[in-house]
Amino acid sequence: MAEYKLLTKDIGVEGLQTLPVYERRGGYQALRAALRDRTPDEIVEQVKISGLRGRGGAGFPTGTKWSFLPRDVFPRYLCINADESEPGCFKDRYLIDENPHQLIEGIVIAAYALQVKHAFLYIRGEYHDQRLLLERCVEEARAAGYIGERILGSDFGCDVIVHGGAGAYICGEETALIDSLEGFRGQPRLKPPFPAVKGLYGKPTVVNNVETLSNLPHILSRGGEWFKAIGTERSTGTRVWCCSGHIERPGCYEMELGRPIRELFEEHCGGMWRGRSLKAFQPGGGSMQVLLPDHLDLPLDMDAVMRAGSSLGAGAMMFMDETTCLVNVSMRLVDFYHHESCGKCAPCREGTYFESQLMHRLEAGVATLDELDTLKDICANMDGKCFCPLGDTATWFVMSAYRHFRHEFEAHCGAGGCPVAREHRPLPAGAAR
Ligand code: SF4
Repeated sequence: MAEYKLLTKDIGVEGLQTLPVYERRGGYQALRAALRDRTPDEIVEQVKISGLRGRGGAGFPTGTKWSFLPRDVFPRYLCINADESEPGCFKDRYLIDENPHQLIEGIVIAAYALQVKHAFLYIRGEYHDQRLLLERCVEEARAAGYIGERILGSDFGCDVIVHGGAGAYICGEETALIDSLEGFRGQPRLKPPFPAVKGLYGKPTVVNNVETLSNLPHILSRGGEWFKAIGTERSTGTRVWCCSGHIERPGCYEMELGRPIRELFEEHCGGMWRGRSLKAFQPGGGSMQVLLPDHLDLPLDMDAVMRAGSSLGAGAMMFMDETTCLVNVSMRLVDFYHHESCGKCAPCREGTYFESQLMHRLEAGVATLDELDTLKDICANMDGKCFCPLGDTATWFVMSAYRHFRHEFEAHCGAGGCPVAREHRPLPAGAAR
């Protein structure tokens, strides 16, 4: 298989974050050609042909999502989801830091395809430096005629507004993002109506992720068929994987979909650190189910990973060595979801609280075996019963860890502490745990 680098191919070129260097690398040519040679419908068609699926987590086909907008209802809006907050996920930040104009070009192409006059780039509050960078790049693009009225002399005009969030994980959920943009407390909305019909300010709205839109200049310059030939039949193109945990070389790596996870792990990440062995990994960020070393031979394919009981989610791979306590990891993730629960629905608001209390008792070694049944009960009363996916996903890692490492959960019960820590992390002589 050929090695494909699309979104990251120019990363490392000095000054790529500036307009002149981006233009010298062929930047904004795809937008120029799209405005000159293609109708909006033709662009939607190319994106459909490409098979591009959303890179934010759900993996919904982008062209299909676009075609849900009702025809002839205006104004309509494009929201760019840069509220990247999934534990272990940092690829959108990487793409913004390293190649911000690629994203802006993708935004304006999408805006033209959707006939949107206002695009709102919603960026995570903690990404302060990236927000300043994007604001500068938007101004650069505006001054050069890529944003604003009559873009590049065409009849099409569009403005791009950068908007900073305030640090709530839930605003990565598209309807909560829209609520937040409108100035309300960010909480998910009841669906239907879906944003495509009734979104921002009650108008048809598309919400797309940073990485998804960064693919557009490449799809438009070389065609949907070309893009479709990369990857697998249902998982086309490449993805930028953010890899972290107990590996030699944490970082972001772009790889064609369909290659084995093992290749990413061994060749790009350098395998486990300090010569240790792999105990488990999470293939799609903190929300996704844990997988085992045997699963390294799975392809980087959304459907194959789903069949194995997890998901590629937002593309965050977290690797854990043999000294990792899965009860401890579960407790930390549950604490995160408890903290980030927006409180709108009872199964999540109450469930994450009780889940967290119980996980702390387990990790401290004071829970009883009976309480493991209570944990399963709590999770069963949350999964599939919450208002939005946050509540469901707050149970996925814990329950998958319990399935694969039941002995570890049971060993904690009444142990008076964490048995894994006791085994792998000896204290200095004389110290008590
Ligand atoms: Fe809010 Fe959690 Fe309910 Fe989602 S599942 S609406 S985050 S309380």
